[in-house]
Amino acid sequence: MKYNRCGKSGLLLPQISLGLWHNFGSVDNFENGESIVKAAFDKGITHFDLANNYGPIPGSAETNFGKILKNNFQGNLRDQIVISTKAGYTMWDGPYGDWGSRKYLLSSLDQSLKRMNVDYVDIFYSHRFDPETPLEETMMALDYAVRSGKALYAGISNYDPKQTAEATAILKRLGTPCLIHQVKYSMFVREPENGLLDVLEEKGVGCIAFSPLAQGLLTDKYLKGVPENSRASNPNGHLKLEEVSEGKIEKIRSLNEIAKNRNQSLAQMSLAWLLKDSRISSVLIGASSVEQLKNNIDSTKTLQFSQEELLSIESVLK
Ligand code: NDP
Repeated sequence: MKYNRCGKSGLLLPQISLGLWHNFGSVDNFENGESIVKAAFDKGITHFDLANNYGPIPGSAETNFGKILKNNFQGNLRDQIVISTKAGYTMWDGPYGDWGSRKYLLSSLDQSLKRMNVDYVDIFYSHRFDPETPLEETMMALDYAVRSGKALYAGISNYDPKQTAEATAILKRLGTPCLIHQVKYSMFVREPENGLLDVLEEKGVGCIAFSPLAQGLLTDKYLKGVPENSRASNPNGHLKLEEVSEGKIEKIRSLNEIAKNRNQSLAQMSLAWLLKDSRISSVLIGASSVEQLKNNIDSTKTLQFSQEELLSIESVLK
């Protein structure tokens, strides 16, 4: 595994990080999740990404991750991994369990620490911009999380370029630089290219791309339609059947041919396509099996693209 510097910080992140949004909840097979985390760490994946609401049920991915830590990462191993969590989406009933107030963010962080049974997380994120709360308040909550030792770094997720520029300026003024922005980015989702990546580079903030495989669409999984045992066919999955349209499948098949010519799987090419950009600190994948994880890690063997390959990819995507 290679490690990239996260923006202009001192922190190195693995090119591939593992997220626990799906497959780690109380409805999932615990042993399978545990074997994925263990295999990831053995392959050099040192960064594990969570959020308060990951499950289902919300919170259960953190609880399960806490158990995995207890079973496998005792002692100094905590110092060899980077754990992130977030607050910003609906977590509990009443007025204090959602969005970006100081009240919500800091009580949620305490709950996350308890569920995972850790003293601190490495990165604490504001999961989304809150139009109703002064940005200053949300950023002061992140700053406090770091100053109190409950988090080592502060991050933001799903903020647009203007919100990002404002948030990073406030954090800088407070003395807690923004470490990282977590953003949805893949061959199918190009939004970050419209200004966000430029802002991040200018401010020295790292970028971690989530759902880099478009939740599994950018793999060989859907070449022949929607199989059982896929996120699109799972009632708890966030990939909706409507998103697996005939048009999408056509594009996936064409991309798969380009990948084959590069001697890569489509998943590997999709990750390499993101990692070729030096502004991308890490790609944040999900996996439902150890086999998928290992296939994805091999993407880092070939990160170069010829001009011809890039043009062929663009012509499929347009
Ligand atoms: P991906 O786009 O990597 O999708 C992962 C899914 O794709 C897997 O669960 C599996 O689904 C399928 N898959 C993965 N590898 C392969 C392979 N080699 N061959 C075939 N199928 C494969 O990422 P996610 O959407 O899971 O998101 C990753 C992480 O990003 C999350 O866990 C979370 O940490 C973060 N995230 C952050 C958000 C935010 O708002 N900040 C929002 C969403 C995610 P299947 O079940 O079909 O096998």
